[in-house]
Amino acid sequence: INSINSGQCKEMILYIADKIIESEPYLTEIDSKIGDGDHGTGMKRGFSAVKKELPAYMPKDPEDVLKETGTILLDSMGGASGVLFGTVFISGITKRRSKGTLNLNDFAEIFRTSLTSLKQRGKASVGDKTMVDAYEPAVIALEKAVQEGKTLVHGFSEAAKAAQDGVQYTKTVKARFGRAKYFGGKAIGLQDAGATSIWIIFRSMSEWISK
Ligand code: ADP
Ligand code: MG
Ligand code: MG
Repeated sequence: INSINSGQCKEMILYIADKIIESEPYLTEIDSKIGDGDHGTGMKRGFSAVKKELPAYMPKDPEDVLKETGTILLDSMGGASGVLFGTVFISGITKRRSKGTLNLNDFAEIFRTSLTSLKQRGKASVGDKTMVDAYEPAVIALEKAVQEGKTLVHGFSEAAKAAQDGVQYTKTVKARFGRAKYFGGKAIGLQDAGATSIWIIFRSMSEWISK
């Protein structure tokens, strides 16, 4: 496939939800080593709410599916990371006029806009050991695939790989945000939980699109 409609967007989000819920113990373990250990349960709570509420939602267009997903996450997760993950899904679609489907270029534009909002809101840049370390390279990979005229499948596969590399990169840097900041040099060798969630989200989108 080269573009996805509202129904497919919904299915893809529900696929992400299953994968995040499955990853709860892994995310908990990561956030326990370097944070307060609540990231897995927070993400699970958010995506369980998505699984419960999204199926009955009647979207106008695929952008509306993303907006509703972010709204559910924001309402159910609470806290700083609820706002941050809500932003990932909501902020890219405000001010867009939908064509009724999303292609690789649309996804690249949407996620670039939401990355910009996330960075404005959270004040983190690449190298601060946050979700931005996985998200920014994923967006760049989507944009590169657009420029090279690649398929949707290829673009998301590259984005998932870039996010995974971003997670590995978080092991090499100290944190400037959240509780991990107080770990100083002891954070070296440990990966960031939020970046790991971003990787799982992109990997899941890639898996769903290539099936
Ligand atoms: P909390 O830190 O409130 O316990 P979570 O454990 O759910 O929330 O999420 C922590 C993750 O949030 C971190 O691993 C990091 O990726 C992300 N994060 C924290 N602060 C910021 C920020 N200012 N900008 C971007 N991401 C951030
Ligand atoms: Mg935490
Ligand atoms: Mg917390």
